[in-house]
Amino acid sequence: MSIEQPEVSSVPSVEQIAEAVRRLTPYLTETLTRFVGAKSLPGEEMPGAEFLEQELATLGLESERIMLRTDLLRDEPLFSMPCCPDGGRYNVLAVHRPERSTGRSVLFNGHLDVVPTGPAELWSEPPFESKLHDGWIYGRGAGDMKAGIVCALAAFKALRELGVQPAANVGFNGVLEEEYTGNGTLATVSALRHAINTAKLTAFDAVLIPEPTHQKLSSAQLGVFWMTVEVVGKPSHAAYMQDGVSPLEAAQHFIAALKELEAELNLPENRHPLYRDHPHPINFNIGQLHAGEWNSSVPSTCEIGLRLSCYPNTDIDEAKRQAEACIETARLALNQPDIRVNVSYEGFHAPGCEYDLDAEPIQLLGAMHESVNGAPIERVALTATTDGRHFRKMLDVPVTNYGPIARSVHGFDESVSLASMIEVTEIFARFIVEWCGVEALPA
Ligand SMILES: [Zn+2]
Repeated sequence: MSIEQPEVSSVPSVEQIAEAVRRLTPYLTETLTRFVGAKSLPGEEMPGAEFLEQELATLGLESERIMLRTDLLRDEPLFSMPCCPDGGRYNVLAVHRPERSTGRSVLFNGHLDVVPTGPAELWSEPPFESKLHDGWIYGRGAGDMKAGIVCALAAFKALRELGVQPAANVGFNGVLEEEYTGNGTLATVSALRHAINTAKLTAFDAVLIPEPTHQKLSSAQLGVFWMTVEVVGKPSHAAYMQDGVSPLEAAQHFIAALKELEAELNLPENRHPLYRDHPHPINFNIGQLHAGEWNSSVPSTCEIGLRLSCYPNTDIDEAKRQAEACIETARLALNQPDIRVNVSYEGFHAPGCEYDLDAEPIQLLGAMHESVNGAPIERVALTATTDGRHFRKMLDVPVTNYGPIARSVHGFDESVSLASMIEVTEIFARFIVEWCGVEALPA
């Protein structure tokens, strides 16, 4: 005798998803806290990569390591000059692959590297000892962007806890070097492209990058490049300062000239249409300035470390030429034959791009946001760069950035909103259900 089973739908309801995500609040907090503790500064990202491998394994996902091999990337148009040796570092890529894929796939891409903290004693609490206070989780990298990666993992976990799994490939890619070259994602995209060309893998149908965008969709991002200006002068005893020529004082003129160029690019009539309403989209940042050996000598050299930006429709090599010409004009105006200037490039060579927010998966993400959050999704043209450019420019795949609300990213006491993480997790889980479809977990 057989008992007829009532037909059970394997698609969880909106309420069930919301409840499953809410139950994962401790998971979000604990995982992010430990992830922040896996200190992953530039060039030293491996603790973050190892942490992600373990978390993926806990979710039943096996990772592959994509080694950073700059010798293989050098000819790519999006290649940036490295700031540190490859050193055996790798990205972590795990893909959930159902036995028979019936839906559309998605890749969550996030960076493992975090930026330097500055003097740790200027933080309220040690930057790598993450804590939850008043609904905010603190620590370097908490917002930018370990929280976003944790939200993607939690969305997958929430569905599994409801007895289902995505009915299409869902990838999780943790990358190196997003904050200074982008060569990490370049390594994965170039490996994916190779795999697609050799038919080893199907392409992803959408890519989501959960950067801390304040739950807005990014419509564009600027071109960004790093530039080092070495100024050589003529050292002398401070008592006879007039015999010397200070490269530090010359550098101040070059910085002033660059600031004038920055102001010109920010004039309303010079702004790119997507940045028209932004009061100051182009930022020329003096990130480093090193000069001199001690107080009683006119310095012999001065090095300026710059991060410059340009609009998405400006050719980045043209932007570099423009900055170099600006410095050269300032050098000639100084009329100081003892001042020599050498410009070099290391770090970001990141052309800007615009995103197609009308693409189907991005529209769907927007609809899920509105359904969970209650307000229509907003669009933002980013004044930074992100790894979205690799997917936009190298693969024909819809991509954008969308992630939780964070405060003080790159600053002291960086933090991310736990409420926003919960919401983003729910939105990602709903997105997976709609985009990938779900099926019952295999017995
Ligand atoms: Zn980031």
